[in-house]
This record gives sequence, structure tokens and C-alpha cells, in this order.
Amino acid sequence: MDNIYNLSFKDLEDYFISKGEKKYKGEQVFDWLYRKKVTNFDEMKNIKKEIIEMLKKEFSMRTLSITKVERDIDVNKYLFSLSDCEKVEAVLMDHPYGNSLCISTQVGCNMGCKFCESGRLKKIRNLETHEMIEQILLVEEECKKRISHVVVMGIGEPFDNYDNLVKFIEIINHPKGMELGSRHITVSTCGVVPKIQKFMELPYQVNLAISLHAPNDEIRNSIMPINKVYPISVLMDTLKEYIKITNRRVTFEYILLDGVNDTSECATELAHLVKGMNCYINLIPYNETNNISYKRTKSLNISNFYDILKKNKINVTVRREYGSKISAACGQLRSKKED
Ligand code: SAH
Repeated sequence: MDNIYNLSFKDLEDYFISKGEKKYKGEQVFDWLYRKKVTNFDEMKNIKKEIIEMLKKEFSMRTLSITKVERDIDVNKYLFSLSDCEKVEAVLMDHPYGNSLCISTQVGCNMGCKFCESGRLKKIRNLETHEMIEQILLVEEECKKRISHVVVMGIGEPFDNYDNLVKFIEIINHPKGMELGSRHITVSTCGVVPKIQKFMELPYQVNLAISLHAPNDEIRNSIMPINKVYPISVLMDTLKEYIKITNRRVTFEYILLDGVNDTSECATELAHLVKGMNCYINLIPYNETNNISYKRTKSLNISNFYDILKKNKINVTVRREYGSKISAACGQLRSKKED
């Protein structure tokens, strides 16, 4: 049985046409799902009984449940149970500009980044589109607020689940549904080059963030296995192409790891690497975890690194930290085994 949240606006229209019904029924159902956000088919008041029964027979609807919520001052972490009892997490951040939800795209992850806690569990499976959408719907119901921004930076490599990701974006962005503006959606990847190439051809103005974390192949190879497949020069050429075609700015994420990638030389090398590109660098203080021996750089090194980039006229910010107390920070999701 397919899930109704796997269907785009057009899929729903086509479905009704294939059943000999009027196309506008698709729009009505889409409206119930994403504007009125009903939780079961019976609540779709202007839809005929026979059609409701048909939908019930052919589609499942809600499949996720929230099994735990941990709260900090301006962040909530949600643990979800999937229909096969696997678990994923999402993190809600209360920003001055709105409520941003960081969602997961896979159970586990195969990218093997050495510093990332979430990736210690190998990929079990991809999330389906509906499982990404349900994370938003359930969190909105729980916190009673509208999610205004979505960041695809939770567990998993989104570009290793490309088709489901793109459908997800299509659905949440649709003007007749949730209408999450593409500039309010950010996808973060460790650098899966062929998928970046496909992504730049899409009609959406979604933000792209790249987990760079090193200024050269030697360091990047030692912390991110993906770099052996798509080394920095290949990644950078692809991103220059991306910027040219989309006219969009790219974000580079750079975790500062003590003694690994946080020296002045690294900062200078990084400045040269991105010079002239329409980009900005987001410096991320590393969130230490019990199972991984990397350490957070000293705060003095953060400011030194920042200053060198600034002096080189690179746009740079230091990421504000959310949720380290409740292990909700980047790379810490699903790190507690007792759940
Ligand atoms: N796979 C995607 C998205 C998930 S990771 C990607 O690689 O971009 C989201 C971000 O958190 C990435 O930039 C990742 O490198 C970073 N991250 C992972 N572990 C971290 C940690 N312990 N502290 C801070 N950031 C971390």
C-alpha cells in the first residue's frame, strides 16, 4: 500500500483522473493534507464517502509516532518510531526569524565521516518521502507552531536518497500546500558530486550546504571517506558550475577539530580554496561525543581562524550552538543507545 504523503500535487491529480474522477479532487485532498493538516481521511469533509473509502483502501496515512521529546531552552529533540520500529530524530530550533526543523533522511548513514556520531550506525534504509513529511507534521502538532524553515541535516546523507528527497522538496514547497519557500529549505551534503550535478538542474531555489571540513585532500581524506571518491578539486569545480547555473550562494560547513584542521595554515589554505566563489563559510564548534576521540578546538583558535578568513575577505560566521546539553547538536543524533 502506498502512503498518501508520497504523492505530489500532480500525482494526486493524476490519481483521480485515472479513477475517472475530476482532476480538482487532487487539489482538494492536497489542501486537506497540507493546509488543513488533517490526521485521517475521515476529516476530509468535502470529499464524497465513496472516495474517502477508496483512499482508505489504497493509501496509508500517518505511520510515524513521537516516542520521546527532550527540551532545552530554545530547542526540542524528537525521537520518532517508524512503522518497522526503526528510529530517527529531528531537532526543532527556535530562531528569531522562525521555527526551523532539522530532519533525518535515512536510518543510519554510509558516508563514514570519522567525527560524526550519527554515522556510526551504518545505513539500514532510506526514509521514504512520506516519512520526511511526517516529521514536519508531527512536530508542528506537538509544538503547536508552524515550521517556517527546514534543514535537511539530520541523520543520513540526503543525496544518497536523492529521488525521495526531491519529491519531499516538491511537496513541501508547493504553493497550494505547506508552501515552504525554497529559500527556507536547506540541503546539506558531504559532497556526492553526481547528485549535486543533478540538483543544479532542478527548478527549485533551495539552499545548498556542503560539509567541507578541510582545506585539502590530505586532511579531508583522513576524516571523510567520500573525498577519496570525489576529491576537493572535483567538488569545487562542480560547485563553481552549480553557482554559475543557479546563481545561488553555497554554504560551506567547517567543523573545527582540535589539531586536525584548525591551524592558521588551514585557514589561509581554505581562504585561497574558496576565493572568488559566491559562498560563505559557517565555522562549527565541534560537539564532542563519548565514542569519538576528536576534540573541540580552543575558542582562541576559533577566533583566530575566523579572523584569517575575514582578513581574506571571505564571508564567515560562527554557528550558534543549539542543544548540546540534550545531544541534539549536529552529529550527535541517535548517539544514545538506550532509546
Ligand atoms: N550527511 C549530510 C547531512 C548530515 S550531517 C552532510 O554531511 O552534510 C550535518 C552536519 O553536521 C554536517 O556538516 C556534519 O559534518 C556536521 N557534524 C557531524 N558531526 C558533528 C559534530 N560532532 N559536531 C558538529 N558538527 C557535526
